[in-house]
Amino acid sequence: MRSSAVTESASTPSSQRFDVILVGGGIMSTTLGAILKELQPDWSIALFEKLDGAGQESSDPWNNAGTGHTAYCELNYTPRGADGAISTAKAAGIAEQFHVSRQLWSHWTENGTLGAPRTFINALPHISFVWGEKNTQYLRDRYEAMRKEPLFAHIEHAEDLDTIGSWAPLLAAGRTADKPVAASQFRDGTDVDFGSITRQLAGHLGAEGVELRYGHEVTGLSRGTDGRWEMKVKNTAGGEKFTASARFVFVGAGGGALGLLQSSGIREIRGFGGFPVSGQFLRATESAIAEQHHAKVYGLASVGAPPMSVPHLDTRFVEGRRSLMFGPYAGFSTNFLKSGSYLDLPFSVRPHNLLPMLQVGATNTSLVSYLLKEVTKSQRKKVAALQEFYPEADGEQWELITAGQRVQVMKKDERGKGVLQFGTELIAAADGSIAGLLGASPGASTAPSIMFKLLERCFPGQIEGWRPQLETMVPSYGQLLNENEKLLAEVTESTAKTLQLDI
Ligand SMILES: Cc1cc2nc3c(=O)[nH]c(=O)nc-3n(C[C@H](O)[C@H](O)[C@H](O)COP(=O)(O)OP(=O)(O)OC[C@H]3O[C@@H](n4cnc5c(N)ncnc54)[C@H](O)[C@@H]3O)c2cc1C
Repeated sequence: MRSSAVTESASTPSSQRFDVILVGGGIMSTTLGAILKELQPDWSIALFEKLDGAGQESSDPWNNAGTGHTAYCELNYTPRGADGAISTAKAAGIAEQFHVSRQLWSHWTENGTLGAPRTFINALPHISFVWGEKNTQYLRDRYEAMRKEPLFAHIEHAEDLDTIGSWAPLLAAGRTADKPVAASQFRDGTDVDFGSITRQLAGHLGAEGVELRYGHEVTGLSRGTDGRWEMKVKNTAGGEKFTASARFVFVGAGGGALGLLQSSGIREIRGFGGFPVSGQFLRATESAIAEQHHAKVYGLASVGAPPMSVPHLDTRFVEGRRSLMFGPYAGFSTNFLKSGSYLDLPFSVRPHNLLPMLQVGATNTSLVSYLLKEVTKSQRKKVAALQEFYPEADGEQWELITAGQRVQVMKKDERGKGVLQFGTELIAAADGSIAGLLGASPGASTAPSIMFKLLERCFPGQIEGWRPQLETMVPSYGQLLNENEKLLAEVTESTAKTLQLDI
């Protein structure tokens, strides 16, 4: 990427030239756009979004669960190893990333990029809740392992219904003490409206001169003879087509990223496939119920369930309204986007990913049978799952809503065998001229860290020059808070103050 001296601006609609093109208007593209605008305000940037506004796919608040993933309550991040010990390594990595998000959002709140914190983030305790001998033992061991880590030292643990009921009354009411139960709590968890962050960042980008092209779909991309990336763009309303080009392209198209990266022909996308998992939630909006619960309560996943299908009972804050949400109930559809097509999955098959995809299908039979069971689950069974958390729940007060699509990554492992992966994969061409994201977990919560990683990969020539500004944006940039307790305390306190998360 060249510097400001070579900045180019838009010319005619049929040939539009930019320094950077962002494909998709979700939280990933808007986060990258806002970071780049701050680091390099003179670069020309355009954002193409096929829908009529930003944040309408997975980043919309009702298409995801809004958990500020800090690994406080999500039990899949603290597995028991073969030696019987609980590993906290993955959890610490997720928590480090969420601290980066908190710092960047604080910086953006202070400089006016984002508005009032309550419009996008709210303090909310994160609780893990389990029942049965084996599971309560697991949670007890997890508590002992986590409290040794500075990032998690403030964990609380209880195994009696009175204490658990004082944390989350709906969990305890109507439950008898004949089965062992256990809960661990972090009081400084969060609920995040990622749609609100996305829309506020998009508004900021527009005000800073970024060309926001809503209703414009990128239908393919290829490398021009001058080394620039050329994008075929279609106006979804009028149907007219044109070409736009950029030196750097970020494919932040969510479920649409796989197809576009395949169309770019870069070597790095070879062997990757996508496995779509859809989801539904139960939602209760009546304030009489919503006022009785103030937490995100995560349980354990059923056998065969993908880690992101762990059931949880959450308080949500969306557009100033408080509601409750329970789920997700996983499902299967071949769409890669909620607004996508049933042909997305078949059209993503290529000679280089067919074998890994078939191997994933053959080796994940428990996942396939779990999904089949979930798809056919009746409303009565869905309410019964809710009642395992909230025994007195009345199904009549809950409505079923459809969440966003997650496209899990299928790729070859080091032995060349196809594997299913539940994390996020940053795909970047060797020359750093194009990058995109596959996968959706831990997702929006870690968008800032993922985008910083992208900058380090794709802009090695600029990153050192940007470092002072990056350290202003994120004071702990490049450091591990789990290894620096003083800095951890400082950034926790300052971000809690700015984001009004003081508890
Ligand atoms: C059920 C569910 C629950 C989740 N819960 C959480 C959670 O609790 N916490 C968390 O941190 N994360 C969660 N996630 C993950 C999180 O929602 C995603 O990681 C995040 O929103 C992805 O952002 P994105 O910008 O990559 O994609 P999106 O928000 O999907 O944005 C991609 C955009 O690209 C556009 N687009 C696609 N193709 C094209 C094209 N060809 N041309 C132009 N535009 C295009 C789409 O219309 C869309 O607007 C959840 C996801 C799901 C589905």
